[in-house]
Amino acid sequence: MVGGGVRDLLLGREPKDFDVATDATPEDVKQVFRNCRLIGRRFRLAHVHFGREIIEVATFRGMHESTSDQARQDSENGMLLRDNVYGTIEEDALRRDFTVNALYYNIEDFSVVDYADGLKDLEAGVLRLLGDPEQRYREDPVRMLRAARFAAKLGFTINPACEKPLLENGDLLDGVPPARLFDELLKLFLGGTALHAFEKLRHFDLFRHLFPETEECLSHEEQGFPITFVIRGLKNTDTRVREGKPVTPAFLFAVFLWEPTRLRAQQLEAEGRSRHDAMMEAGREVISRQISRVSIPKRFSLQMREIWNMQHRLELRGKRALRLLEHPRFRAAYDFLLLRAESGEADVELAEWWTLIQDVSEEKRIEMVNATGGGGRKRRRRPRKRPAKE
Ligand code: ATP
Ligand code: MG
Repeated sequence: MVGGGVRDLLLGREPKDFDVATDATPEDVKQVFRNCRLIGRRFRLAHVHFGREIIEVATFRGMHESTSDQARQDSENGMLLRDNVYGTIEEDALRRDFTVNALYYNIEDFSVVDYADGLKDLEAGVLRLLGDPEQRYREDPVRMLRAARFAAKLGFTINPACEKPLLENGDLLDGVPPARLFDELLKLFLGGTALHAFEKLRHFDLFRHLFPETEECLSHEEQGFPITFVIRGLKNTDTRVREGKPVTPAFLFAVFLWEPTRLRAQQLEAEGRSRHDAMMEAGREVISRQISRVSIPKRFSLQMREIWNMQHRLELRGKRALRLLEHPRFRAAYDFLLLRAESGEADVELAEWWTLIQDVSEEKRIEMVNATGGGGRKRRRRPRKRPAKE
C-alpha cells in the first residue's frame, strides 16, 4: 500500500482510499482478480472492485531514461504528457509528489518502507516535493494544487523551497486540461476543508487561474459582500461534509460564480433586458467563459443555472412562486438565498418568509402569499415587478 492511505494511517486519520503499488503489470493484476477493470486516462491502472470499494492498483513506474520510448512524451514547457514506463519500487517512490506520499506499507513483513525521508517530514508536518520543486511543478502543475490541498487538509506547512515556486508559477495551471482541474477542484472543495483550501489557493495566487472572474470581484472588494458570501458558502459545505450530508459541486460552483453572474445580469438589466432574461444570459456567459478553464459537467451547470434563475422567482413570492416549493432544486435555491441574506446581499425578511412558509399548513401558505400582495386569486397573472432590494 502506498500514498495517502499509508500517510493518513500513520497520522491517525481515516484514509479516504487505499492505493496499491505492485511489480505486477495491469494485465497480470487482471488475471488474478476477476473483479478487475483496467482503466487509464493518464496512466494505465487496474481497478479492483470489492463491492462499492475500488482499490487502485498501479504498477511501479520508472523514470524516463529511454527518451526514444514512445511511452513518454513531453510538451514544450516540460509538462509530462504520458508516463507509462514500468520500473522498480525505488523509482516508483521517486516519481511521487511529496515525501509523505512516498511511503510504502509492505504487507509481507508489515514494515513501512521509506525511500525519501517521508517519515521525518511526516513527524515534522512538512510537505516537501521530491526532487527539484520547480521542475516537478512544471512536469505536472496539478502538484501545485495538491500542495495547497494537503496543506489545508493535513495542516502541514510547505517546505520553503517548495513554497516559493508556487507563488511564481501559477501560470502553469493555464496549460492543464479543464477536465483534470475539475477533478482536482472536487478534491479541494468537497473534502471537508474547503475554506482552508480556498485561503491557501488565494494566498499562493493560484485561485485566479481557476476562477478568474471570481478573483476579479474579490480583489476589488476585500472586505465586502462577495468574500463574505464565498466564505460562508465554503463553511457551509465543510459543515455538511462533517455531518455526512450530501454536497454537490453545483452549489459550490454557483457560489463561486454568483458575483460575476449577478453583476453581469445587473448590467444586462440596465440595458433593458427583463430580470429573468438578464439572469439567464449572464449565467450562460459566465459559465461558458469559466469552462474554458475548469470544465463543469453539463448536469452541474444546469443545476447552477436553476439555482441562479430561481433567486429572482424567490424574490417575487407570489402564488407562482409557491410552486417553487415542489421544484427539485428548491432546497438548493433556498439554501443559496439564505447564504445571500446572511451575507447582506439579499433581504433577510425574504429569507425568513421562505423559511416560515415551508413549515406551515397549506391554508396559512395562501394567507402568507396574499399578505405579500403576491396575487393569489387571478389566473395566470404575470409576476409583479418588485424593485430588487439590494
Ligand atoms: P488522498 O487520497 O487523501 O486525496 P493521496 O495522496 O492518496 O491523497 P491520490 O490522488 O489518491 O492522493 O494519489 C495517490 C498517490 O499517488 C499519492 O500519494 C502520490 O504518491 C501519487 N500521486 C498522485 N498524484 C500525483 C502527481 N500529480 N504527481 C506525482 N505523484 C502523484
Ligand atoms: Mg489516495
